[in-house]
This record gives sequence, C-alpha cells and structure tokens, in this order.
Amino acid sequence: MFKCADCGAVFSEPQKINAGSLYGVGYGANDDYLDGCPECEGGFEKAYQCEECEEYFLDDELAFEDDLPDGVECLCKKCIDKLVKENKKWKKKLNKMLKWFLI
Ligand SMILES: [Zn+2]
Ligand SMILES: [Zn+2]
Repeated sequence: MFKCADCGAVFSEPQKINAGSLYGVGYGANDDYLDGCPECEGGFEKAYQCEECEEYFLDDELAFEDDLPDGVECLCKKCIDKLVKENKKWKKKLNKMLKWFLI
C-alpha cells in the first residue's frame, strides 16, 4: 500500500500521470508518465499498516519491531499511546518510543 504525503489518501496502485500535464508543456515528452496519488496527483510513499488499529501510515508515523516489545512488528503513535496507558509491562519500552515521536 501507499500513502499520499499531501492529502493522506491510501491506495494500492499509484496513478500514472502524464508529465506534461503535471509540469506544463515543455517538461518531459507527452508519453512521459510519472506515478502519483490517485486523489491529488501528489507525491506518495510506501505505507505500513498498524497492527492495532489497521490503518495505514507513513514510516515516520510508526514504530517498528526493533523499538517495540517482542512479537509486535508495527504500531502507530496513537496506538502506542493507548497501549502505554493500558499495559504497564510495555510502559518502559514504549515510553522511550513516545519521546522519540515527540521530538
Ligand atoms: Zn494525494
Ligand atoms: Zn494504530
């Protein structure tokens, strides 16, 4: 999955966008196509699914397994926040992550 950095749309297939229509005539040949967001034609990045809420996020909105308790691969900030409150066992490790997110 991919997520648009501009409008936040999540999609599995980027849209082919004609380079001429994007940058104006004179930029790139008419058969030059770029990948863009299907909603706004903006730039996008690979998206990762949060294990807890199952929404998609960009990698800088998530923590990955190296920073998480054992057996957890991918969590968004919102869910880390929630789990820290609910689960004391996680508190130490996840609090460290939260600090990192808040920088
Ligand atoms: Zn977009
Ligand atoms: Zn989440």
